[in-house]
Amino acid sequence: MTPDWHKAKRIVIKIGSSLLIDEGGRLKDQWLTSLIGDVAGLVSLGCDVLIVSSGAIALGRGRLGLAPGALKLEESQAAASVGQIRLAHAYEGRLKAHDLIAAKVLVTLGDTEERGRYLNARDTISTLLKLGAVPVVNENDTVATSEIRFGDNDRLAARVASMMSADLLILLSDVDGLYTAPPHEDESARHLSSIKDITPSIEAMAGSVGSDYGSGGMITKILAGKIATKAGVHMLIASGQDDHPIKALFNGARASWFHARGNAVTSRKRWIAGGLESRGELVIDAGATKALLSGKSLLPAGIKSLSGSFARGDVVIICDQDHNHIARGLSAYGASDAQKIIGHHSKDIAGILGYEGRAAMIHRDDMVLL
Ligand code: GLU
Repeated sequence: MTPDWHKAKRIVIKIGSSLLIDEGGRLKDQWLTSLIGDVAGLVSLGCDVLIVSSGAIALGRGRLGLAPGALKLEESQAAASVGQIRLAHAYEGRLKAHDLIAAKVLVTLGDTEERGRYLNARDTISTLLKLGAVPVVNENDTVATSEIRFGDNDRLAARVASMMSADLLILLSDVDGLYTAPPHEDESARHLSSIKDITPSIEAMAGSVGSDYGSGGMITKILAGKIATKAGVHMLIASGQDDHPIKALFNGARASWFHARGNAVTSRKRWIAGGLESRGELVIDAGATKALLSGKSLLPAGIKSLSGSFARGDVVIICDQDHNHIARGLSAYGASDAQKIIGHHSKDIAGILGYEGRAAMIHRDDMVLL
């Protein structure tokens, strides 16, 4: 079965440094222009496109006069700081040529792991997409220490794809997919076009296919595959060597397809339903119960009382007035702010809390009915 990638509505495209920057540390202008042409094509078909782009360190190191070879962590971070500006500028100019708006998003591992920050990052990126911008994501290399770094953008891209419930993650690479052995070393190496399950033998095949600039090689791509497919996101490893790589892919160019388990929204909801311990309880009135059962979000106005000590992003149980558990969801407010706004209209939230919060206590995308 070959899936129809044209049907993917939300696509994350990851671009590695070795595709974007040449050996002299210069941006590959023509290639990036062709890629952004492909992105504009997807946007015009109605797709949400997110780009995860490396290249900051590779672009910044030359400017700072850092010698070739491995950099110390703090040198990479300094190089990223300089290179990020040039990278952002490169995307902004090319997207603008298609009347598209570039949005720079720098995230750390914690932003995709810690629940409150996860919700913030997701809400901001959703808003950018809704407003028609193209988010260009990279790791916030400058502030992350070694323990809290992704270190490679393959896994960052998988986390972003999972966080945003994307349909498809495309890792553009200097090879057109996964081989049974490194193809440049072993003539009998066979290309794998469809991977249903990432078994230990698949992991072993990732071997040593690396490149000059990319920090990960094939191993981090397989780890990314685990994160993405488990979250219900299909992943493709495809070649980005030639111009118009996305167009080529959609026209049938060879790639390795890692099959998603379920779809992104159901996987996320499964995670909310079973994965996390609940920290509190909200009791809601009959009107809100009816609204929830018909697929609506939970507004503060419909909440009668609450218990527990939960933070923004924690799981809470939603009960009807007879204390039947009817749903679970991620609370957009911590318990003490929630206490102040329950029973009130969403338009009064800013006046009560002193900041403009979310209209819903629990958004329907963050809720599962039990
Ligand atoms: N975030 C790093 C950069 O922009 C690259 C990490 C990677 O190569 O995967 O330069």
